[in-house]
Amino acid sequence: MGANDERLRVIVVGGGIGGLALAAGLRRHDFEVVVFDRDHDVAATGGYHITLDGRAQLALQQLIEPDLYERLLASSSALRLRDPDVFWDRRGRLLGQGRDLGSDPSIDIDRITLRLLLADAAGNSLKLGHTVTEVAPSSGSGPSVTLADGVRHTAELIVGADGAHSVVARHLAGGPTNQPAGLIGFSGRTPSPALDEIEQLRLGPRSSMTIGPRGAALYVGFLDPVGRAVLDAPELRSAITTGPTYIWGAMFPESSQTNRLRKLAGTALRDALLHRFRGHRWTEQVLQVIERTDPGSIAAFRFNAASSKPQDLAPWPAGPITALGDAVHATPPTAGMGAGAAIRDAADLLRQLRAVRAKDKTLSVAINDYETTLRARGSEVLTLAMKTVRWILATDTPIGAAATAVVTPILGTVRRLRS
Ligand SMILES: Cc1cc2nc3c(=O)[nH]c(=O)nc-3n(C[C@H](O)[C@H](O)[C@H](O)COP(=O)(O)OP(=O)(O)OC[C@H]3O[C@@H](n4cnc5c(N)ncnc54)[C@H](O)[C@@H]3O)c2cc1C
Repeated sequence: MGANDERLRVIVVGGGIGGLALAAGLRRHDFEVVVFDRDHDVAATGGYHITLDGRAQLALQQLIEPDLYERLLASSSALRLRDPDVFWDRRGRLLGQGRDLGSDPSIDIDRITLRLLLADAAGNSLKLGHTVTEVAPSSGSGPSVTLADGVRHTAELIVGADGAHSVVARHLAGGPTNQPAGLIGFSGRTPSPALDEIEQLRLGPRSSMTIGPRGAALYVGFLDPVGRAVLDAPELRSAITTGPTYIWGAMFPESSQTNRLRKLAGTALRDALLHRFRGHRWTEQVLQVIERTDPGSIAAFRFNAASSKPQDLAPWPAGPITALGDAVHATPPTAGMGAGAAIRDAADLLRQLRAVRAKDKTLSVAINDYETTLRARGSEVLTLAMKTVRWILATDTPIGAAATAVVTPILGTVRRLRS
C-alpha cells in the first residue's frame, strides 16, 4: 500500500481545529495532504473562545511554523494575567474562588481567529465547499472518500477530523461514537463596557460559574486578547475580539422545553433565555451579561459526549482509516479541553507518520500506537468535562435542587463572614 513511500498521501476529512492542525503539520514536514471541509468560508464559522493548555501549545509548536505561532500568541489572552475563577450563586453572592492562575500557562483565543491562523498554515491543502458523503475501505489503490459531487479520492491514509457527527468515525465504528450529554447550551458575547460599572467590577477580569437549582447554569468567560495578550505585539495581532469581552454560556438540561429554545434566534432567543432564568429566580444583576449581549451573537449548542472509558473510544482495529478530535472523543466544552485534545491528537499522529516515513515502523503499527494514546487522551478530557455536566444535571433532581437552594446561601454567608 505504499506505506513507506517518501510522499505518503493523506486525506483529512474536516478542516476544523484538529484537521487544520494536522494538515499544517503534514505540510510543514513535506507530506502530501488534502483537507476537505464542507464550509465555504473559514471565517464564516461559529464558535467563541477556545482554551489551549500548555500541552496543546507544545503540540501546536510542532505543527505550525514559529512565525505563525507568534501571531497566535499575539492574538490570545493569557490566563496568568487574569484573576482566579470564581463561583457565584444565582443572586450574585460569592461562593468560592478557584486556584491562583499566576503560573497557569493556558491561553484563550477566539475559535474563528484560531481557525483562520490554522487555515493559513494549511495553505492550499484546504479545499473548502467539499462535503464527504462516503468512506470506503482499502481496495487496490487504498481507502477512499467520495464527495457530494460524486468524485472519489484515494490516499494511503484517511483521517476523520469531521467533528462530533463524523462520517468517517461512523464508518469505522459502525454507528455513532457519541450521544447527547443531556445539556443544551446557548452562548453569546458581551463587551465589558456594555455592562454597568458595578457589574463590570463584580465580574472583573476573570471567568466565573453560577449554578442554580433546577438545572440552570451560567458560565461567563473573560477574554481580552488586547489588554491581556500573551505576546505584546500589536503588529502581529489578528484577534476578532478587540477589547475585554465576556463570553457567556447558559446551560440547561435537555428537555422538550429547552429544545424549543433552539428554534429561536436573536432578540427572541435572548428574551426567552432571560425568561427562563427569571423563572428560576435569578437576579437581574446576574442576568445583565445576557441582557446586554449582542442578540446576533447568540447561538445554541447541543452537547454531545463520547464515553469516558478509554476502551470504548476508537473501537475499531487499527488500519489506513483513522480519526481524531471530536470524531473520536466528542467532548462538551465544560472543561475547555476539546480543541486542545484535538490538536494534541494531530501532533501525535504526525509524529507517528514521520516514524513511518523514517521506516521505523509500518503504517498499521504507527496507527495502532497513535490510537492507544488517542484513547487515553480522550478519556482524560471526557472525565473532566463530564464532572461539570453531571453537577448541573444533579441540580435538576428534587434532592439536588433542594440542596443547591439551601447550601448556596450558607456558603455565601460563610464567605462574607470570612472576608
Ligand atoms: C461551529 C462550531 C463552534 C464551536 N464553538 C466552540 C466554542 O465556542 N468553544 C469550544 O470550546 N468549542 C467549540 N467548538 C468545538 C471545538 O471547536 C471542537 O470541540 C474542537 O475544536 C475539536 O475539533 P475537531 O477538529 O475535532 O472538530 P471541529 O472543530 O468541530 O471541526 C470539524 C470540521 O469538520 C467539518 N465537517 C463535518 N462533517 C464534514 C463532512 N462530511 N465533510 C466535510 N467536512 C465536514 C466541519 O465543517 C468542521 O469544520 C465548536 C465547534 C464548531 C463546529
